Amino acid sequence: MDKISIIVPCYNEEAAIPLFYREISKIINKMNQVKFELVFINDGSIDNTLKEIKVLAKSKKEVKYISFSRNFGKEAAMMAGLDYVTGDFVAIMDVDLQDPPEKLEEMYRIIKNNDEIDCVGLKTNSHDDYGFIRKFFTNLFYKIISKMSKTEMVPGARDFRLMTRQMVDAIKSLREYNRYSKGLFSFVGFNTKWLTYKIPERKAGETTWNFFKLFAYAIDGILAFTTTPLTIAAFVGVIFCLFSVIAIIIIIIKTLIFGDPVDGWPSLVCIMFFLSGIQLFCTGIMGAYLSKTYTEVKKRPIYIIKETNYK
Ligand code: UDP
Ligand code: MG
Repeated sequence: MDKISIIVPCYNEEAAIPLFYREISKIINKMNQVKFELVFINDGSIDNTLKEIKVLAKSKKEVKYISFSRNFGKEAAMMAGLDYVTGDFVAIMDVDLQDPPEKLEEMYRIIKNNDEIDCVGLKTNSHDDYGFIRKFFTNLFYKIISKMSKTEMVPGARDFRLMTRQMVDAIKSLREYNRYSKGLFSFVGFNTKWLTYKIPERKAGETTWNFFKLFAYAIDGILAFTTTPLTIAAFVGVIFCLFSVIAIIIIIIKTLIFGDPVDGWPSLVCIMFFLSGIQLFCTGIMGAYLSKTYTEVKKRPIYIIKETNYK
């Protein structure tokens, strides 16, 4: 009998947990040819999330929990789940029911009946609920990263997926601190089949993501999966050197022929501003990589567990 482990990261989700359990238990009962393990990760919630999870864990033997010592972020929560689960197949799901549990049945059928497929993921192709600005930047991000990185990032991909044990073990071997899952899932390779759906509304609670968090997350993705910006910085530097050589020659010739009029101050100031802007920008890019390297070499743990019902 196969066992499916479901990892559910939760951050301040006291309202969503009972609703989620009600929906997921319908599927668990329906798919009675498989065993289930439901792992809630309490990511340092400051509401009654842990209490709600413990209530479930007391009466339902399939419910496991891991509770962090503070908020480490969804990426860390997913990692902890992957580290502990024991299933032959592993799914990651949001607790707000934006990842519809009923899809699990189809995902399992696909992965089970097709040896070539190691992962079934869900993606959306409609971002109708995003505002104009978010849509614009989302599209821009995928365009930039697909040009810069060899690792493929699938536009609209959710974290909701069902993976084989083999793929889970591969992801577990990536112990980097700055985690960008979309890239990591793709980096390990294997064959992913994508199902398309429309993301439903959040059923309870509210999202913790705002525009700036998403923007920072996008930058994290770029820094983690490509060093092309560093190359661009060097390239821009070279172009400006060449340009200045040409400019110097032109200026010398011009001065020799026409003498040296004193005007030209405004253009000089503009050039100075422009060039120092570019320099600062390029230094900033290097700083961004340096800071990631810095956090990486410290080798701090990705998460710290305060309590769990795993033995
Ligand atoms: N989450 C988490 N830690 C965090 C933020 C979010 O574990 O620091 C969980 C959250 O409880 C939810 C999932 O990650 O189950 C997705 O979060 P959310 O619904 O806010 O994101 P969205 O669906 O808007 O992308
Ligand atoms: Mg959500």
